[in-house]
Amino acid sequence: MSKSIAKATARVTELRGVGPKTAASLKEMGIETLADLLRHYPLRFVNYPEITEIAALTDEEVGNPIAVHAEAVRELVRRAGTRVQLCTGTFSDGSGEMLATWYHMPYLRNTLRPGRRAVLFGKLNANGKRFELQQPQIFTAEQYEKLLHRPVPQYALPKGIGEKTFASLMEQALALSPPLTDWLPERFLERYELLPEDRAVREIHRPQDMDHFAAARKRIVFDGFFRFLYDVRRMKETVRNEKSDFVFDAKAAMTAFSAGLPFTLTDAQKKVCLEISKDFMSGSVMNRLVQGDVGSGKTAVAAAALFSVWRAGFQGALMAPTEVLARQHYRTLSELFGASEDRPRIGILTGSTKAKERRELLEGLAKGEVDILIGTHALLEERVVFSALALVVTDEQHRFGVQQRKTLSEKGKQPHVLVMSATPIPRTLAVILYGDLDISVIDARPTGRTPIKNAVIEKQDRPKALLHIKREVESGHQAYIVCPQVEANPLTALENVEDYSAALRVSFRGEITVEALHGRMKEAEKQRIMERFLAGEISVLVATTVIEVGVDVPNATVMMIENAERFGLATLHQLRGRIGRGKDQAYCIFVQGKKSREGSERLGLLQRSNDGFEIAAADLKQRGPGELFGAVQSGELTFGLGDIYNDYSVLQLAKEAVDALDQADFNLPVVHKKVVL
Ligand code: ADP
Ligand code: MG
Repeated sequence: MSKSIAKATARVTELRGVGPKTAASLKEMGIETLADLLRHYPLRFVNYPEITEIAALTDEEVGNPIAVHAEAVRELVRRAGTRVQLCTGTFSDGSGEMLATWYHMPYLRNTLRPGRRAVLFGKLNANGKRFELQQPQIFTAEQYEKLLHRPVPQYALPKGIGEKTFASLMEQALALSPPLTDWLPERFLERYELLPEDRAVREIHRPQDMDHFAAARKRIVFDGFFRFLYDVRRMKETVRNEKSDFVFDAKAAMTAFSAGLPFTLTDAQKKVCLEISKDFMSGSVMNRLVQGDVGSGKTAVAAAALFSVWRAGFQGALMAPTEVLARQHYRTLSELFGASEDRPRIGILTGSTKAKERRELLEGLAKGEVDILIGTHALLEERVVFSALALVVTDEQHRFGVQQRKTLSEKGKQPHVLVMSATPIPRTLAVILYGDLDISVIDARPTGRTPIKNAVIEKQDRPKALLHIKREVESGHQAYIVCPQVEANPLTALENVEDYSAALRVSFRGEITVEALHGRMKEAEKQRIMERFLAGEISVLVATTVIEVGVDVPNATVMMIENAERFGLATLHQLRGRIGRGKDQAYCIFVQGKKSREGSERLGLLQRSNDGFEIAAADLKQRGPGELFGAVQSGELTFGLGDIYNDYSVLQLAKEAVDALDQADFNLPVVHKKVVL
C-alpha cells in the first residue's frame, strides 16, 4: 500500500478492495469518504483466546470460542450437501485431532493443504465423540498474534462485507487519512481533560487497552453532546420570545375535540392541553417539549393541538421520523378527528408519495385546502409551501436534527413548535438538554390498562418462555423478540437475529409466521416487514433494537429480550414500551445471558417498575462503567456514542463548554454519527 496521504474527503473507492458493490454497501451505511469510515466506530471490543492444544480441549469448553494451530491430516473433502457445498477434514496439531467444516468455500481444499499450518478460530462444537469447528475463521500465525493481547474492535458490518475485509479497509483508512484538525478550542482540551480529536478518532479503533479506549471515547462522547447542545442553543436564540402571528383561544376547540374522542383524556393529558392553550394565547411563539412515557398518549395531545389550530383557521404539520410512523399517525388522526363533515382535511407526504399525488397535495397545501400535513422529513423539502402554517409538531424528535426542525419552522411565519419525546428524562437532565425550552410532562398513563407483567429468566428457562409465546400467538396475539446482534459471532456468543429467527421457524414448524428485522436490511424491506407486522400478517418479529420508537401495535402482547444484560436501562424500557398498549395482559421477558451483579440489579429494577421516570432516576444513581456504547441504545436519543445516563458527567462538561463559548469559537461543525444495528 502506498504511504502517500490521501485527503480525508477521499472516496472509499480509492481503497484497495473496494469495487462498485462494496462501495454501494458502504454507502448504504452512510460511508462514502475516508472520514466517514473513521467515524464508523466499533460496536464493542472482544479478546481473542490464546491458542490451545487440541489434546487439552475438554467438554466444558463446548460452546466457547477457541483457537488451534493445526494442519489438515489429508486433503479436505468436498461434498455437495442438499443446499450447501461442504468442505471438511481432520486437523492435527501434533497433540491431537479434530474436525473442521466450512460451507460455500470449496477452494479451501487448495489453501489448507496437509503440511500447511493455520490458526483456526471458532466456536467449539462436539460432533459425536470428536470436537469440531464449524466455519472457523482462518489466520496465519502472525495475523493471529497481532489480534492477541489487545482489544479487537467489532463493527456493525455493511451488507456483504466480512469482518476481515472491513478491518482491512479500516486499516487502510487509518494509514491514509491526514491528521484531523481539531475544531475544539485548545483551552477546552486542557480544561476538560480531552484528547485531541485526531488521537481520539484513531485510538477508538485501535486502543492499547481499555483505559486508552475510555479516554478516546470520552472525547467522542463529548463531541456528540456538544453538538446537540450547541444546536439547541442556536435554535433557542432564533425563536426565543418572538412575537407570534398566530394568537388564538384554543379552549373551546380543545373541549370539542375531547368530546368527540372514544375515550376520556387523562388528567395528565388535560393538563398539557391546557398548557398548550395558554401558549397559543400568550402572544409569543410556543417552543414546548412534551415528555411522556411510552403509551402515555402523546398522539392525542398532538391531535388536540392540531385540531385547535385548524379551528382557528390555520394549518398544522406533524412530522415523524419514519414512513411507518407517519402512516400510523395519519390513520390515528383520521380516527381521532371523528367522522363528522366538519373536520380538518389531512394529507400525508412521504418519500414514497407518487408524483401526481404529491403535486395535488402541494397545490392543496398552498391554497389552504389541506389543513394538516403529516409526513416524514419529506415535509422539509423546499417545494412544500403552506399558506398559513401555525403549528409544527415533531414526534420522537431526537431522530431529527435540530437544524431540520428549524428548516420546517422557517416555512411559515414562525409557527409554534411542539416536540414530543418518549425518553423519560429526569427533570434535572431535561433542563441541561433543553435549557429554557418549556417542558410539559404527561406523568400518568391512561387508566384501565393492565400493567405489564415482567420476568427475568435465565437461558435454561427459554423453552418455557417460547412455549408461552406460542400460546399467546395461538390465541391471536403477536410477539417481539429482541437480539443484540444481527448475525452469529463466536467471540461474543450473543444471540443474533439471523440464527434465532431461522431456529424459531424450525421449532414452530411453519405454523407460526416468523420474520427478521434489522438495520442492515434495505429501508424499503424494513418498512414492508413493519407494515406486515402492523397488519397482523407476521406473528413473531425477531429484531435488533431497530423496532420503531412509537409503533403502536396493541395486539402485540409479548416481548422477549435476549441478552438483556447488554442493553442500557433506558433502552430496555423503551423497547418494553412497544407492548402493553392494548387491553390484554402483556408480558415482558428479560433473558439474562450472562449473570453479573450489576446486570441483575438493573433487570431487577425493570422487573419491579414499569415507570420510566422512576427507572431513569435510578439509572442516574447507579451510573457505572456499564456497557460501552450508545450503540445498543434504541432509536431516540442518539448522541453518537454517548448515553445520557451513563455519561452524565461528560454531558455536564459539554454543557459547561457550550455556555462558555465565545462568538469567535463558532466555526467548525462537529461530526457525529448514528449507529446502525
Ligand atoms: P405515546 O405516548 O407512546 O405516543 P400513543 O399516543 O401512541 O402513546 O397512545 C397509546 C395508546 O393509548 C393508543 O392506542 C391510544 O389510542 C391510547 N390512548 C391515548 N389516550 C388515552 C386515554 N386517555 N384513554 C385511553 N386510551 C388512550
Ligand atoms: Mg407516540
